[in-house]
Amino acid sequence: MSAPARVLVVGAGIVGTCCAVYLQREGFRVTLIDRDGPGEGCSSGNAGNFSVGSVFPQSMPGIWRKVPGMLMDPLLPLSIRWRHLPAALPWFTHFTMNSRRRRVEEIGLALKALYGHVLDAYDALLKSAGAQDLIVCRGRLTTYESELSLQKDAYALELRRRHGIDVQILSGDEARKMEPALTPLVKRAAFLPAYAHTVNPLRLTQVLAEQFVRDGGTVLRETVRGFEAKDPGPPRVLTDTGGHDAEQVVIAAGAYSGRMAAQLGSRVLLEAERGYHLSMSDPGVTFTRTIMSSDRFITITQMEPGLRVSGISEFSGLDAPPRYRLADVVLKHARDLIPDLNPAGASRWMGNRPSTPDSLPIISRSPHNPNVLFAFGHFGLTLGAISGKLIAEMATGRPTTIDTTPYRVDRF
Ligand SMILES: Cc1cc2nc3c(=O)[nH]c(=O)nc-3n(C[C@H](O)[C@H](O)[C@H](O)COP(=O)(O)OP(=O)(O)OC[C@H]3O[C@@H](n4cnc5c(N)ncnc54)[C@H](O)[C@@H]3O)c2cc1C
Repeated sequence: MSAPARVLVVGAGIVGTCCAVYLQREGFRVTLIDRDGPGEGCSSGNAGNFSVGSVFPQSMPGIWRKVPGMLMDPLLPLSIRWRHLPAALPWFTHFTMNSRRRRVEEIGLALKALYGHVLDAYDALLKSAGAQDLIVCRGRLTTYESELSLQKDAYALELRRRHGIDVQILSGDEARKMEPALTPLVKRAAFLPAYAHTVNPLRLTQVLAEQFVRDGGTVLRETVRGFEAKDPGPPRVLTDTGGHDAEQVVIAAGAYSGRMAAQLGSRVLLEAERGYHLSMSDPGVTFTRTIMSSDRFITITQMEPGLRVSGISEFSGLDAPPRYRLADVVLKHARDLIPDLNPAGASRWMGNRPSTPDSLPIISRSPHNPNVLFAFGHFGLTLGAISGKLIAEMATGRPTTIDTTPYRVDRF
């Protein structure tokens, strides 16, 4: 009997780890490589939401009119390091083009196709890891501090309803009945009962990686330096300690994947959209549901390590140092939204969201090398497990659960 085929997965964030586990379930011999421990990159610090109701891209109609004002106002979430603008210009051009209504609706359909599988794909993995307590489904409240702010969200709410997502519009008092810590400034809210969240994103990736190892997988702590092309055949993966060969290679290195894809012949539009969070172990308030403030662009999530408040979209390039004053903007909004919040001892964190200009992930075989697969550019916590499932199906050569054409790497 021949030995099972080997697959190397580069990147042990939530996406790479889910790819590794699903590949293993298909019978491959899998090695997961990361310079850090599993889940310690962007996947550790996110807001924890499985955003199965976000059936639209970030670039909604009219965004181009709002962006200049957002950049000028230090209390709004958008920030750019001007030196980085020339490099980011193609990304922003595509981003703006995707805000046309027809495109928004196409993207919504492509996202919805993935969202239909999000929780089932995780459930299968968490069951075998005995960690189903890590995901809870208690819904999400989106808050509005004026009738106008609710009206501004009308198109997004309509898209949700059209896709069959339950949205319940509430008064401010009804919202405070559900979450008493919210300020009286909240006048309206939209409750989305289908939203689930993880109580610990880092532990989520870690338990999946631990189960992967128990089931015979290998995790290597090495830094990938590049690739050695072997034509024909899979590339050799070069790391700080040597080189690795396998029949197939999966690139799932989050925001760092763009550089790796370029080395492998695929030019992609991928920006590090940096976000910040504050975590408070003794906040003095508790929340049952996750909160998203439509006026302040922050998300509040009750997690195991404490209350996490997240926000900011900063475009500064991959290598720029964090600008923690942006985390202070998040904190200011959190204090306004939660009057009794105790921020003493809050820790601050920055992470690189791997963002594409159309808000769709890249889940694709390389057009240049059939032995290379790409899995990055995600709203990755939400889409990690279903991406892993699709990548594993692609690796076997079987038809995939859903049509992956909208997520192909050469679409830009
Ligand atoms: C503030 C904030 C809030 C967010 N909230 C949500 C949310 O609520 N819901 C949601 O779905 N998403 C959310 N996200 C996005 C989500 O966190 C990311 O999309 C997701 O973590 C990406 O996962 P990943 O596995 O692709 O990347 P990562 O977690 O970044 O993993 C990539 C891995 O590749 C490794 N790597 C990189 N280069 C190399 C190399 N050369 N050699 C070896 N290893 C390498 C890194 O060490 C890292 O571990 C949020 C992000 C931020 C910043």
